Amino acid sequence: TDAVLEVRGLDVDYGLGDDAVHAIRDVNLTLHRGEVLGLAGESGSGKSTLAYGLTRLLPPPGVVRGGEVLFHTDDGPVDVLRMTEPELRRFRWAETAIVFQGAMNSLNPVQRVSTQLTDVIRAHDPGSTGASRLARARELLELVGIAADRLDSYPHQLSGGMRQRVMIGMALALEPKVVIMDEPTTALDVVVQRQILRQLVELRERLGFSVVFITHDLSLLVEFSDRIAIMYGGRIVEEASSAQLYRDPKHPYSHGLLNSFPALRGPKRELTGIPGSPPDLRAMPTGCSFHPRCPRAMERCGVEVPVLGVPHDHVGPDRTVACWLHPVHDDGF
Ligand code: ATP
Ligand code: SF4
Ligand code: MG
Repeated sequence: TDAVLEVRGLDVDYGLGDDAVHAIRDVNLTLHRGEVLGLAGESGSGKSTLAYGLTRLLPPPGVVRGGEVLFHTDDGPVDVLRMTEPELRRFRWAETAIVFQGAMNSLNPVQRVSTQLTDVIRAHDPGSTGASRLARARELLELVGIAADRLDSYPHQLSGGMRQRVMIGMALALEPKVVIMDEPTTALDVVVQRQILRQLVELRERLGFSVVFITHDLSLLVEFSDRIAIMYGGRIVEEASSAQLYRDPKHPYSHGLLNSFPALRGPKRELTGIPGSPPDLRAMPTGCSFHPRCPRAMERCGVEVPVLGVPHDHVGPDRTVACWLHPVHDDGF
């Protein structure tokens, strides 16, 4: 396959025993080579937990309860959840770069941008010379759209958008195969968000990495991702190409999310949002966890959990949805 990362049956809890919060439940997700995969869902739906879980960076009391995260290398698939510490370090360092929520504030305030960039380059390539590291740092800044004369700046001398770009440049210094961005731009205004995302997508085309982009703003994802997975209450409830999802969302929650943000292009939708609030993970509704908020809920929705079905002709060949409006037939089609 052309998969680079495959998440299978991932379960993540915070805490143990009866008090455990089931933050991620049975998540299956495939990231293909060179694609931008968008992950959307309201606050608390589990987006960050999924990103931390699949890179084994979960802060306590987070625990991965089960599943597999297959990272495809030239030598075949390796399960990230079963990697030894040295393997894991290499995976995190060289294969997957993560720009976490709020990362733009994690630059060292008392070090120049040049020092922070060259430190990362040195760690990645210990044999490099001072001059070659500086040249590479300059190159990385230009790659993310910052003039090289900013190398001598301290973080506070840069705008939020520039700090974010520096973080992306640092991530790219490692030449990762996968870049995970967790809401890197929410603190920035919409215009800057779009510029940064567009740049990342262009770099992806030039450098050939895959991107997992996490945000609650579905309109940004529709514009910049190839595929979108929608999360609700710790589960993926719909997955489709972004064009399909935008044109014809199958899950009522996806529909509501699309109508919660102004469209950046295309026909205007009436902004209606989604009534009610996200589910309490400690006391999940029975059946479909969205049923208390769903305008199309039927009797069976409160009783039976809809599974994320295999694709069938009613829904389309390359998409899945977990909703009783689109039941999976017994024969899989
Ligand atoms: P946001 O859009 O606000 O970033 P998210 O989709 O990234 O939200 P997560 O941060 O992954 O959501 O949280 C998923 C759920 O796990 C939430 O209900 C949250 O309350 C819970 N959770 C997160 N961290 C902890 C923790 N340390 N202990 C207990 N529960 C936690
Ligand atoms: Fe709504 Fe039922 Fe579909 Fe859940 S399964 S989203 S409650 S129609
Ligand atoms: Mg988050």
